[in-house]
Amino acid sequence: MIAHGVPVIFRPVEGHATGQIGYVLGDSADGVAVVIDPPAGETELILALLTESGLRLVMVLRTHVHANDTGNCAALCERTGAVLVSGETARNGSDAVRRVGHGDVLTFGGQVIRVLATPGHTPDCVSYLWHDRLMCGDTFDLGSCSAEGSEANPAELYDSLTRHIFPLPDQVLVFPAHAMKARRVAMLAELRARLTPVLARGRDAFITEMASRQRSGSAGSGSSRAY
Ligand SMILES: [Zn+2]
Repeated sequence: MIAHGVPVIFRPVEGHATGQIGYVLGDSADGVAVVIDPPAGETELILALLTESGLRLVMVLRTHVHANDTGNCAALCERTGAVLVSGETARNGSDAVRRVGHGDVLTFGGQVIRVLATPGHTPDCVSYLWHDRLMCGDTFDLGSCSAEGSEANPAELYDSLTRHIFPLPDQVLVFPAHAMKARRVAMLAELRARLTPVLARGRDAFITEMASRQRSGSAGSGSSRAY
């Protein structure tokens, strides 16, 4: 992949135990990388990928942290010297965290990552926009949007979708933290078209729709995921 004349690396890493998908983003010219939502149990694989590619890890980015989080970011940070980055209210269990909020910009090598506040799936959710790729955590499940679980807030999700995500260009590629029905990427235009009918009915109708899906356990995807 070449972005703005600079060779970059984009490698999804899927956790065998959890199905969680993390993403390694690398700047080959400067030999640095970041990883977004590294899956639990895949630390060695990520370190091997970095070594193979000649990249030094400088940041570990979290889109969100659940109360029952099983992520193993501490080991990855300790072994690489990378800085842990998370949303302003995320419970990381550590003080060594760089907090980010909407509009913040992260850089590594010649690369720029924009931070979008996207609460809804959990209160602390942020998404990371890098070139044409949006790593959104569990904001979308690629079949609908993710308002499941006790930490979900449909009202916040409505605001995140309408104010921060859907104003992005159609061609943005959305990469979730979990595959849904074997899908691992979608164009934003597709997700917008899928959700426009319910969003167009207004904020209150969206909240009602998501609440009914939560009660039925369907959430548009048949999933009862709690992570
Ligand atoms: Zn989640």
